[in-house]
Amino acid sequence: MEKVIIVRYSEIHLKGKNRGYFERVFGINMEKTLKGLKHEIRRQSGRYLIENFDVECIDDILSRLKKVFGIHSMSVALKVNSDMESIFVAAKDVCNKTGTFKVVTHRADKTFYLNSMQISAQIGGRLLAYNNNLSVDVHSPQFEINLDVRENGTTLVFNEFIKGAGGMPVGTSGKGLLLISGGIDSPVAGHMLAKRGMSVDCIHFHSYPYTNLQARDKVISLAKVLSGFSCGTKLHIVSVTRIQEEIHKKCNGEYMVTLLRRFMFAIAEKIAERCGAQCLITGESLGQVASQTIEGITSSNSVVNSLPVLRPLCGFDKEEIIERSRSMGAFEISIQPYEDCCTVFLPRHPVIKPTMKSILEEEAKLDVQTLISESLSTLEIVSL
Ligand code: ATP
Ligand code: MG
Repeated sequence: MEKVIIVRYSEIHLKGKNRGYFERVFGINMEKTLKGLKHEIRRQSGRYLIENFDVECIDDILSRLKKVFGIHSMSVALKVNSDMESIFVAAKDVCNKTGTFKVVTHRADKTFYLNSMQISAQIGGRLLAYNNNLSVDVHSPQFEINLDVRENGTTLVFNEFIKGAGGMPVGTSGKGLLLISGGIDSPVAGHMLAKRGMSVDCIHFHSYPYTNLQARDKVISLAKVLSGFSCGTKLHIVSVTRIQEEIHKKCNGEYMVTLLRRFMFAIAEKIAERCGAQCLITGESLGQVASQTIEGITSSNSVVNSLPVLRPLCGFDKEEIIERSRSMGAFEISIQPYEDCCTVFLPRHPVIKPTMKSILEEEAKLDVQTLISESLSTLEIVSL
């Protein structure tokens, strides 16, 4: 009896004519995720089978697959020849030692000599005869034995459904550039759009030497966590040290964060064009801090000329964001106490509802285009 993993898709089947394309991308994403582990992926109607893996790697395979968007559910199954004796032996193997159960048969092979009801009844009967501690309850059983009689002369026997990550295969909804800080919010924002099928590249701004190298490592670790879900990511790292020094020297300190954000967005748009991203993504949540009032958002949004800025967390409370951060495995990294560039030269009272007129007056004190070019020249790219 061979152990296999059945992988079922989620929304892919909704995509009509594009179905073939979605399935291909989905298959490639699974290959990337399982890279380095022995396996074979076989496409069947409406599902995939993972076969020929080392059984001791099964937990590793499952935990990797749990990050693949597009998977609705998975089952570890025994694959046997479609004869009643082999099916019974496998059913015995996956069956609990005690409790109430029901056998559910799905017969794709319509030429099999018994119908679904007959198969369930015979296997159920033999299990009862074999083990006195079992009883049948067809309405609310404690567990189910599932028999999937395939067209190719094999039957898959399993007893559990493992929940998948849901969503759509990464790569089927274009590409975005995530502004990633070392905080809690931005990795969650990237995760949410990856779940909707978007490939996510990242850009991070630092103020070395005001921010330290541990802050940089922290962001690399966060981008790596995200990369596990987005089937790889490129992290663009850019220095805004000169920009902050210039703002500090020449502008009203209350506008530090507001002005810095405008530089970040403008630089991010240029990098997005270079890497083929079709939108910017941020972890902003309305009203969370001074720079995230609608006035602050209007200010940073207005420097982006040709791309939409997606803010998937806009309507979320901090607790909801933290919950998602924990479940994606980023929270413990995000709360490491290293400084982000936004806390460097931080004014005691940042401007909360800046008018565009006052922002532009402050910005006019700077040589914006030169500062942007200088900043772009510090670009480093890390592939994760
Ligand atoms: P986060 O937890 O993502 O840092 P936050 O609540 O701390 O969010 P801010 O610091 O105001 O919010 O940042 C708002 C958004 O601006 C972030 O979610 C992120 O998208 C972007 N951002 C802030 N700092 C940086 C940075 N150093 N590099 C790249 N993007 C940044
Ligand atoms: Mg932050």
